[in-house]
Amino acid sequence: MTANNLYGRLPSVDKLLQVAEQNNLLQHHGRTNTLAWIRQLLDEARQVIRQQQQLPAWLNDQGIDEKRLCHQLTEKLKQQSQPGQRRVFNLTGTILHTNLGRAQQAEAAIAAVTQVMRHPATLEYSLANAQRGHRDQAISQLLQELTGCEDACLVNNNAAAVLIMLATLAAGKEVIVSRGELVEIGGSFRIPDVMRQAGCRLVEVGATNRTHLRDYQEAITDQTALLMKVHTSNYMIQGFTSAVSESELCQLGKEQQIPVVSDLGSGSLINLAEYDLPAEPMPQTMIADGINLVSFSGDKLLGGPQAGIIAGDKALIEQIQHHPLKRALRCDKMTLAALEATLNLYRYPERLPCELPTLAKLTRPLAELELQAQRLLPQLKQFAGENFHIQIESSMGQIGSGALPTEQLMSIAITFSEKAGSNQNLNSLAERLAGGDIPIIGRIHHDKLWLCMRGLSHETDFSNQINALTNNQRHEALA
Ligand SMILES: *Cc1c(COP(=O)(O)O)cnc(C)c1O
Repeated sequence: MTANNLYGRLPSVDKLLQVAEQNNLLQHHGRTNTLAWIRQLLDEARQVIRQQQQLPAWLNDQGIDEKRLCHQLTEKLKQQSQPGQRRVFNLTGTILHTNLGRAQQAEAAIAAVTQVMRHPATLEYSLANAQRGHRDQAISQLLQELTGCEDACLVNNNAAAVLIMLATLAAGKEVIVSRGELVEIGGSFRIPDVMRQAGCRLVEVGATNRTHLRDYQEAITDQTALLMKVHTSNYMIQGFTSAVSESELCQLGKEQQIPVVSDLGSGSLINLAEYDLPAEPMPQTMIADGINLVSFSGDKLLGGPQAGIIAGDKALIEQIQHHPLKRALRCDKMTLAALEATLNLYRYPERLPCELPTLAKLTRPLAELELQAQRLLPQLKQFAGENFHIQIESSMGQIGSGALPTEQLMSIAITFSEKAGSNQNLNSLAERLAGGDIPIIGRIHHDKLWLCMRGLSHETDFSNQINALTNNQRHEALA
């Protein structure tokens, strides 16, 4: 049959809409939506005729194959209703994975967010005098208690915190930073670029590997507005090195009456060494050392929502609060509710390893990870089939998000490697694992696919997901 004849066999939109209605599709998905997909299906059918000179699978010599048509439409409608942001299992070995949403929230934070989403709340209202309050007030008080700061300001993320600190305190002036600390974090956040955006002039001092106090000293002019430290959170300079500590710099700042600020990046409000984890700098130590302002992220080691926290001197915080950028960078009520609930947990640090998911994962003992791997191994063997070697191995994970760049985190992983003569490769295995309702994300490294146990919580959900994938495979093999 010629293509022209085939085009003529395509049913009208109305006819297809009728079929969809008889099969309850309109009821479930709405008329507008179904109609859009019917048009799409017809477009695709014309393409099949043009390219292959044949009818689409849902149309045959007897006319419309209703079952096939409805199946195809339902698949399209289902695909469309998949949200862009979906739950996944993070078995990459990086606990605070920026692409996978960093910290998971504590139950207390989830409950607090739910409350303010559903009901009116005292976001900027003081019940004490029935007047306007400040949205950062409650969290500032908590941070005063936890870090010894005089006041605090909350913004959208730590990048925003650095931007507004610089714009408020040093626009049109000079900021002195060590050459060893001009960091780039995740592509678009580079200290020199942020300086430019804030309208400051960057004055680099020292060498990449060594900076001394006298380097800062000699660079100070009447144009100097700030001395700045940036935590080299995603790399480490090793060997013949020297850096000036915050406390030394604070001494100099005091003498010269120039504020000293520190971008900590991750920052931890607890001493990680007490949990046998590599130590990270703590904001409260810097404040005790005399830093004027310190900034850090809410969703890195702190374990809360995305936010930027600036803590320090009252007079400087007040200036930042009144800068026009603050309105553009301020946190919304959901973030503030989650952050307040998370910080509240730090009042009872003994409970943190249970209540803060980030710390819970970082402190899971290896023996527990090993047992978990053993429980899951049989199911994963069944899923992977005959083409792969599968075993339990020690592995190295990392905290992620720039925290502790060189320190590795001991872990346990289930690994897959291709058997000789296998007709499936690791990439297709990784795709199969990511193809379910809750995608499972691992890491391919050294010719193996690694599923790191440290990031796995909700083991029952995981186990159900593996079973579902195995069953689907069987059905597909039979079909
Ligand atoms: C992560 C990080 C930032 C950016 O923080 P966000 O919360 O991701 O905006 C800035 N500076 C340092 C040193 C960091 O580690």
